[in-house]
Amino acid sequence: EIPDRPLLEVKGLQKHFGGLKAVDGASLVVPEGSITGLIGPNGSGKTTLFNLIDDTIRADAGEIWLGGERIDGMKSWQRAHRGLGRTFQITRLFREMTVLENVVAAQRSFSLRGLTRVAVSGAEARAAEELLEFVGMRDFRDQRASDLSYGQQKLVELAQVLMLDPKLILLDEPAGGINPVLIERMGEMIRELNSYGKTFLIVEHNMPFVLGLCDPVHVLGRGRTMATGTPEEIKNDPAVIDAYLGE
Ligand code: ADP
Repeated sequence: EIPDRPLLEVKGLQKHFGGLKAVDGASLVVPEGSITGLIGPNGSGKTTLFNLIDDTIRADAGEIWLGGERIDGMKSWQRAHRGLGRTFQITRLFREMTVLENVVAAQRSFSLRGLTRVAVSGAEARAAEELLEFVGMRDFRDQRASDLSYGQQKLVELAQVLMLDPKLILLDEPAGGINPVLIERMGEMIRELNSYGKTFLIVEHNMPFVLGLCDPVHVLGRGRTMATGTPEEIKNDPAVIDAYLGE
């Protein structure tokens, strides 16, 4: 049973790029303890919304609340300290570093662009190894990130985000570009993490994946929330079906 308390609340968020309203008054709630889905046609503003939530870019207007605290005026690292974690559609590992170093570096990577090595303490290595074990990548701990397949990089990125022990994890296309076996495994890991108390907001194009995993599901259209509901409700919503047929 999902409690009604919102962990994340976005109210009337706006972001314009020149004349283009990429996010145009989007509002949504991510209930604490939920695996919430965010879908919508290409260009509907999903990635921009993620970028606004984690301060990759700054909103023009609107409010973002995390755990009852307003965060839209905060810097990225301050939001991370309050329990916000995020993965990217294109993974952003440090290519020259090992898998283990990458996971440890997550804790310090706010200003480490260009970093090629990181000193790893025993405690950090143990914590990172545990997470690598969870995602099934422990055997790869000493390999360079650049030698990994795309799917393996996604798993390491998940371990990275977990290293900061976030309350809310934004996942950008966790099932994108990976094989069906790994998609299945990804869904299982998300469910397991959710059972440990992690809340998720997931952008994903794979409809069976979203509808099988997420509840509630929000639908964006032209930068606005056009529908919210259970997977069953979303599947049968004529406006949603229209929006996707139009893609
Ligand atoms: P989605 O993730 O749903 O596909 P996006 O958030 O990537 O949608 O894009 C929403 C709209 O904003 C698109 O029309 C896109 O071209 C535009 N857009 C996104 N980022 C930028 C940017 N940095 N500069 C200009 N336009 C952008």
